[in-house]
Amino acid sequence: MKKSLLLFYSLIICFSFFPFPDEGIAAEKSAEDIYKDRLALYKEMEAVTQVPWYWLAGVDTYEKGLRRARNDRDKADGVINIYFSPKEWAGPLNPNLEAETPSEIALFDGIGLDGNGNGKASLHEDADVLFTFANYLSDYGYDDDNIQIGLWEYYHRDQAVNIITGHARIYKKYNRLDLDDEHAFPVPLNYNYSYRSTWGDTRGWGGRRIHEGTDIFAGHRTPVRATSYGIVELKGWNKFGGWRLGIRDLSNTYHYYAHLSGFEDGINKGDIVAPGDVIGYVGSSGYGKPGTQGKFPPHLHYGMYRDNGYSEWSFDPYPSLKSWEKRDRR
Ligand SMILES: [Zn+2]
Repeated sequence: MKKSLLLFYSLIICFSFFPFPDEGIAAEKSAEDIYKDRLALYKEMEAVTQVPWYWLAGVDTYEKGLRRARNDRDKADGVINIYFSPKEWAGPLNPNLEAETPSEIALFDGIGLDGNGNGKASLHEDADVLFTFANYLSDYGYDDDNIQIGLWEYYHRDQAVNIITGHARIYKKYNRLDLDDEHAFPVPLNYNYSYRSTWGDTRGWGGRRIHEGTDIFAGHRTPVRATSYGIVELKGWNKFGGWRLGIRDLSNTYHYYAHLSGFEDGINKGDIVAPGDVIGYVGSSGYGKPGTQGKFPPHLHYGMYRDNGYSEWSFDPYPSLKSWEKRDRR
C-alpha cells in the first residue's frame, strides 16, 4: 500500500515536472511534436534565464549536428541535443560520475543543475540539460555580443560561434524550428541539366586532388539555388573554384557552389537564404586568375562538407541531390 502510494505521488510529480517527454517516448513522437516540445522548452528557459530562445535553439542545433557527425557521442536521450560528458556534469574529481544530487555536484565543481525543480540534476532530463547551458550563458549577459563571448569561452572555436550565431539568426527570423527538412534541388527542374555520381574521381587541374563534389552540367547562366535554409558564409574568387559561394545550413553542413558565371544581385556574405532562393548562375569560371572562364564546359560544382566541432570533411552530395530532385518533382 505504502509502495503504491509512493508510486502514485511520484507519478504526479513526474507529470507536473516533466511536461516534456524524454527517451523512449521521444522516439515514438512525430517530428512535428518534437519540434513543438523543443520550442516550448527553449521558450520556457528563456522565461527563466532571460537567454533568448533562438540562441538556445542555435546551440542545441549545433550540438545536434555534432552528435550526427561524431561517433563518440550517443544519440540524445530526449529532444534536447546539448551534450555534457558525465565528468563535466558531475565534476572532474567526483568519484561518482552518475551523481544527480545538486549539492554533491556543486561540491565537486560540476556544471549540472536541476532545471525542473525535482531535486535532481540529471544528465538525462531535457530541462536540466537545457537549463544548465542557459544558466552558463546567462553569466555572460543577454545581448548578442555577450552571448557570443560566452560561446567562445565554452567552445574555444571561432567556427563554433559563427555556426551557432547563424543558426540563431535563422530561428529568430523565421520564428519556427521545422526548417531543416525543407530542401530544393540546386537547379530549377525546368532547365536542361545532367549529373552523375563523380565524387572521389581524380581531376586534372591543380595537382592530385580528388573530386569533392558532384558536377551538374547545365547551360551558361542557368539559375543556381540555395538547397537549404542557411547563411552565406563565403562569396568570392578562388583559382580552383572560380566564382564560388558557400552556405552553412542548420545541420552544420557547408554547401559549396563553384564555377559560377556570377552571383545573384543582392546576395552577400552573412545573408540568410531559403531553399529555392536564386544565389547565382551556372558558368565555367576558375582554373586561373580572377575572371578566367571557358577552360571547361559550364557546370555547377556542388560540394558538401560536414563539421564535427574540430574539422570539416567532404562527403558525397549525390544521394542528397537525388532526394531533393525527387522532392522538387512532386
Ligand atoms: Zn566539380
